[in-house]
Amino acid sequence: IGETGGGLRRGGSLVAKDARHVLHPWADLSALGGQGSLMVCEAQGVEVMDSAGRKYLDAIGGMWCVTVGYGRPELIDAMQAQARRMPYFTPFADVANEPAAELAALLAELSPGDLNRVHFTTCGSTAVESAVRIAHLYFASRGRPAKRHVLSRVNAYHGSTYLAASLSGKEADRTRFHYETEWVHHLENPGFDPDDAPLSASERLGQLIDGMEAAIADIGPENIACFIAEPVLASGGVLIPPPGYHQATRELCRRHDILYISDEVVTGFGRVGHFFASEAKFGIVPDMVVTAKGLTSGYQPLGAVLISDHIAGTLTESADPAKPVFSNGFTYSGHPVACATAIANIDVMQREDICGHVRDVGPYFVERLRELRNSPLVSAVRGDHLMACVECQVPGETGPTARNQALAGRVDAYCEKAGLLVRPFENLCIMSPPLVITKDEIDRIVAIMTESLARAEHDLRAGEIC
Ligand code: PLP
Repeated sequence: IGETGGGLRRGGSLVAKDARHVLHPWADLSALGGQGSLMVCEAQGVEVMDSAGRKYLDAIGGMWCVTVGYGRPELIDAMQAQARRMPYFTPFADVANEPAAELAALLAELSPGDLNRVHFTTCGSTAVESAVRIAHLYFASRGRPAKRHVLSRVNAYHGSTYLAASLSGKEADRTRFHYETEWVHHLENPGFDPDDAPLSASERLGQLIDGMEAAIADIGPENIACFIAEPVLASGGVLIPPPGYHQATRELCRRHDILYISDEVVTGFGRVGHFFASEAKFGIVPDMVVTAKGLTSGYQPLGAVLISDHIAGTLTESADPAKPVFSNGFTYSGHPVACATAIANIDVMQREDICGHVRDVGPYFVERLRELRNSPLVSAVRGDHLMACVECQVPGETGPTARNQALAGRVDAYCEKAGLLVRPFENLCIMSPPLVITKDEIDRIVAIMTESLARAEHDLRAGEIC
């Protein structure tokens, strides 16, 4: 990271402008306009720098998305070159652009099974939303429009457009906003922690599958269009289902003619060691896969739904003769600059075998973080390669109570002071560093977390955390 030049663009006045005018995602409405936000100005490798010139190791990966690291000339050059050549033209109907065509072919190659048709969107939420609409269109095309209910899970996160927010199942996010409840259903949180489970993995699996079968029977399979699932529930707290869960839920869906949508917005593009986790790691070929975030390493906003040839074929063959139009898509679907960035990103990932690197350092990351369980303030550490979560609690006090949240907030604040950004959610510190992170940098994360936990423990003993 270069020197900070100071000046108006980086000065405190911009923090004030932000506080006065920006409504941030997940802002605390009771404090709107009060405390200024951390103004991040520059970034290089796995570090970002704030307006005061302080550097931080970014253990959030931007927001689960910066995978190949910051300041990659390959991606920046691709963005620049495409912006010069042709920055934008409509993606609608019979107009195409070169990077979108190239990227669609690449995604078809990288994705499992017969997912060979790509519908580009602007982000993860719009991809989730589009996938569910496609499921609806698919069954309507087969003369079964009643099949429109959707199965999701408690603690899932699928985005924040109206439907994606309704599919999400994080209790803390359910506020006075309005949600679709008539045809969206949430199955049990499938997370299984072998360190902290009254049941064996196979008993828990049996319970989860029985629960899903009961829900399907209750709603009626003739009414259900799709099941949407993150392979590992990410922002819900890095919740990992018991072994066999993915295959068993896939089988149930197949048996009841329910489409399986795998939300790989986080798990895709290397985070758990593969371009897509569904087949490579969990042994299933979904009917649709949703991707975003790491697709461009976060350098450009872009999302995509990967659709099976079977679904695409049905939509074509059974299109409404009066209105055969696929009326879904966005001004920025397949944006040429974003697609060019994604192509460069995939190229870097393949040339540098980033997935192989994740398979190498990922277990080390989780193993080192698990040492934090030596602190009396850590009740659990969960992780799968480079997605992990440290759960903080006051000894003897379980769950996301106000005190446990204050405690995790304190740990988070000490980390930030020491130059490490982790993502606080309730009483969890969630981590998803850039995939290029080294073992030395992982050691730095663990050292800062250890120190921050010790300082928070001191504060707790001093009665400062209530
Ligand atoms: N799906 C998952 C699993 C996510 O984690 C997210 C965002 O964090 C989304 C969908 C929504 O993506 P976006 O924020 O790009 O709309």
